[in-house]
Amino acid sequence: MNATRTPAPRGLHHITAIAGDPRENLRFYRDVLGMRLVKKSVNQDDPDTYHLFYADDVGNPGTDITFFPWPHAKPGRPGVGVVEETLLTVPLGSLDAWQARFAEFGVGSNPVTERFGERTLPFSDPHGMRLALVEAEAPFPFTAWDASPVRSEHQIRALHGARAPVRELAPSREFLEGTLGFRHHGEEAHWHRFVLPGGKGAGAGHLLDLREDSDGRRGEWGVGSVHHLAWTVDDADHQVGVREAVEAAGRRPSDVIDRFWFESVYFMEPGGVLFELATAGPGFTVDESHEALGERLILPPWLEGSRERIESVLPSLDEATA
Ligand code: ZN
Repeated sequence: MNATRTPAPRGLHHITAIAGDPRENLRFYRDVLGMRLVKKSVNQDDPDTYHLFYADDVGNPGTDITFFPWPHAKPGRPGVGVVEETLLTVPLGSLDAWQARFAEFGVGSNPVTERFGERTLPFSDPHGMRLALVEAEAPFPFTAWDASPVRSEHQIRALHGARAPVRELAPSREFLEGTLGFRHHGEEAHWHRFVLPGGKGAGAGHLLDLREDSDGRRGEWGVGSVHHLAWTVDDADHQVGVREAVEAAGRRPSDVIDRFWFESVYFMEPGGVLFELATAGPGFTVDESHEALGERLILPPWLEGSRERIESVLPSLDEATA
């Protein structure tokens, strides 16, 4: 299969994970990591629970990490087919400031290490999700959030990438390279890095690291685990083109689903990691102004009729305000 037939996705669009208590999630991602809550909505498949979106000031594609807070779900179990670490791009030279901030807020972190030539600070969020800050040039348009508790020169710039173990590397490699247009960037400490065209440095914003663990058992989704990685497609035509290539590769993609702020297609890559193709637009300002992003509960039109009931069962987030 020839990857050049269909233009590759443009890099990461968003990463969605499962969290515990939504107030604790908000306190960490907004008040410690300094990201803007750009959308407060509900899980469209489970509308009695929140879906919270954190990003840069305007919600640019590639800056957005989103959560389904399910306080009563069990913890995720690491294992093959489940992302084990989410990487975020921070400006060159900012990790010292981040280490000081983590110490101030009691964030569990490991020493700064170097990966593929880039300084990396691994840490965990309050619900056991593993992340890392990686110093690199910003891979996507970024707008600083003036009201952030983190100074603009240190703010998180983008999603950087993700790392996942898979039972067999070869089928994932063939699919990534042959169908989605990734190329193999290199191998380090048993991690194979795959990058889409357009990444900065060692693939910022455009990378997936895979490690073969042939004896590994399947991981399970739960609190603290990544649910899926979404890659950007330009528009509906681009999405259809990539979707057809995925289908031709036997990966059984979903139909196109209207997520209101973008359109989505889901499928599993051969190693079991759930992927999404998300259109770049229309974006988060389609239903509220830039100034008001994240302030009120936004429901897709087909759930507006249930607003009163939904608002009565969702916990208030207000008490999370520092
Ligand atoms: Zn998604």
